[in-house]
Amino acid sequence: MTKLLFGTSNPHKLDEVRPILAAAGIEVEGLDAVDPIPEPVEDADTFAGNARIKARAYAAASGRRCLAEDSGLEVDALDGAPGVYSARYADSDGDRATRDAANNAKLLAALADVPDERRGARFVCAMCLVEPDGTIVAEARGTYEGRITHAPRGENGFGYDPLLFLPDRGCTSAELSPEEKNARSHRGAAARALVKALSEP
Ligand code: IMP
Repeated sequence: MTKLLFGTSNPHKLDEVRPILAAAGIEVEGLDAVDPIPEPVEDADTFAGNARIKARAYAAASGRRCLAEDSGLEVDALDGAPGVYSARYADSDGDRATRDAANNAKLLAALADVPDERRGARFVCAMCLVEPDGTIVAEARGTYEGRITHAPRGENGFGYDPLLFLPDRGCTSAELSPEEKNARSHRGAAARALVKALSEP
């Protein structure tokens, strides 16, 4: 199996990407497989730009071919916010669960007066695979459409998953099994597109 380093500190992202690449014969290793690398500053204004920053930083520091992704939530009624600021939307400290809860509460407050038909939103994921010298091997993108609920529902996933309602399923992304989420998510779609790009001459 080919091994690939995935430059993320988010264990949920690792869990989601790993089975998709494993099915294509690629073993995904997390940052625990290499010496500690400081987190790069993600200051691009696009998901693709931030994915490149992360992939290049972790590839340069590890000397290995490295995959990275940047993702977030675009809400139509907020003109695409929180977008690339999704992780730090509420500017909260604390562990991941605390920050996720603060972000979700801020989003629900921002949409308090917005009716269902204007609560459209999507997760977006940009992936980038680079060589140790920074040369881009492949890039991919995926989206995951839904609508923002009025209260969180579900225990699976992470981040804004309890708020993304899927009208065709009648449940939120956090109520899907990991396999169901991967089958339709932005990250699943990007990972499958990346695999396809790698298999093309
Ligand atoms: P990043 O780690 O800088 O890419 O930040 C991504 C942020 O976007 C996360 O902290 C979540 O708030 C949100 N996000 C991205 N993907 C997902 C997902 O699959 N489910 C829920 N929230 C997500």
